[in-house]
Amino acid sequence: METAELWKKYQEKMFVISSYDLVISTTYFDADTIAPIKGADYRNDRLAYLYGEVFSLQTDPELLELLEKLNSAEDLDDEKKRIVKWHLEDFNKMRYIPKELYVEYSQVQLEANDVWKKAKSENNYKLFEPYLFRLIELTKKTLEYRQTDLKGYNILLDDYEPGMNIEKYDRFFGLIKERLIPLIRRISKAEKIDTAFVYDYYPVEQQRKFMKEILDYMHYDFDAGVLAETEHPFSNAISKYDSRITTHYYENNLMSSVFSVVHEAGHATYNNQVRDDLAETFVFSNMSSGMHESQSRLMENYLARTSAFWDNLFPKVKELFPEQLKDVDQKKFVRAANASECSLIRTDADELTYPLHILIRYEIEKGIFDGSIDLNSLENIWNEKYEEYLGIRPSCSSEGILQDVHWAGGMFGYFPTYALGSGYAAQFMHAMRKDLDVDQLMRDNKFTVIKDWLREHIHQYGGLYLPEEQIRIATGEEFNPEYYVDYLTEKYTSLYFPE
Ligand code: ZN
Repeated sequence: METAELWKKYQEKMFVISSYDLVISTTYFDADTIAPIKGADYRNDRLAYLYGEVFSLQTDPELLELLEKLNSAEDLDDEKKRIVKWHLEDFNKMRYIPKELYVEYSQVQLEANDVWKKAKSENNYKLFEPYLFRLIELTKKTLEYRQTDLKGYNILLDDYEPGMNIEKYDRFFGLIKERLIPLIRRISKAEKIDTAFVYDYYPVEQQRKFMKEILDYMHYDFDAGVLAETEHPFSNAISKYDSRITTHYYENNLMSSVFSVVHEAGHATYNNQVRDDLAETFVFSNMSSGMHESQSRLMENYLARTSAFWDNLFPKVKELFPEQLKDVDQKKFVRAANASECSLIRTDADELTYPLHILIRYEIEKGIFDGSIDLNSLENIWNEKYEEYLGIRPSCSSEGILQDVHWAGGMFGYFPTYALGSGYAAQFMHAMRKDLDVDQLMRDNKFTVIKDWLREHIHQYGGLYLPEEQIRIATGEEFNPEYYVDYLTEKYTSLYFPE
């Protein structure tokens, strides 16, 4: 068969897989936004079945044959070669896992997700604990079937961030510990920034209007996305042309929805800006977690927490909440958006203390998979680590070990990419600021120019390149976490200890 014909056949198979994916991800989005809880069992049983069907398609020997033929075809262009290479690697991750185990795992994930919601709202870790144990056990079992040179937790780390491993993460978090913990200690003794107005009463209806203003300012494409409401904000790339975001409104916290919306819009922008001819290929959705997170953090922290970002939006927020913000000017607003204080909830953490929340989860996961942690004392270990690194201790499970959904989804190895993404973003920003006057562009209401830079240097490729390659393409350098700790050190030193 000619190469062009092989490629066509391969695309046909991808079309079938993506049809199932469309149904699964739409249902998943639905389940986490508007679907009623009583329909959960019915929904989950069918979803687990669909996961099984997709598993069969993804591990179909005919697909493997096509991929192998394409992989050895000499006349395939370079980009297609890469697409095939990444797909083959992905195929090899799945191919030795028994389908029954995969379906069982999916089923437990779905149940665990529902039980976690209940356990969190009832503040009852014991309810969730057996599901967590089961997921850990099944994850370990799945790892036994993987044929790779990597071992244990390193397999999981590499799945979410190709090229990363314990050794590299230890170095990354080591730098964070060494450079940021002393600064955080100093700030905790410094004069506090006044944030009281943030926790005033902000009616949800008005917040909804404000989110629309923010997303319009960022040129979020409402014809290719939607903003919905959920318990735990997330984004969902159904396709390039349907990249959805969610938020959670708290009546007594204005900043929470603001920054979660900007964050998720950062993810959606990445998906929306993948090149058209790559949008229906394997690399549309195989960006690494760290790369994806770098794009959401870049918008959330490196852009939306600057004063320039608010030049156009501050008058609007004042207009929507005249009473609440009557004594607040833009300077005070932006200072409050950057205030740093050790807190218990990761998703509400400020930019500076955030990586410590990730460090805690990373150390716990490492201990789970190397067997150095007794699973029965997980909650206690969690609390101890918060005390050690952040100087505060959760008083209940819902603000401690139950706060995040990730483990309920079996996503072990994922958390570290959150901190890594912030690290990547610092380096991307450094490169972008060499090319553009970013602050002036935001003041001039030209957010699209910033998005164009991101498209040209990063987004257009989707997951065509490995993170390390993508960083080199966009910045001309290897990944260097010093940019991240330098940025945080400079920013927070001048915020809390102005000369
Ligand atoms: Zn994110």
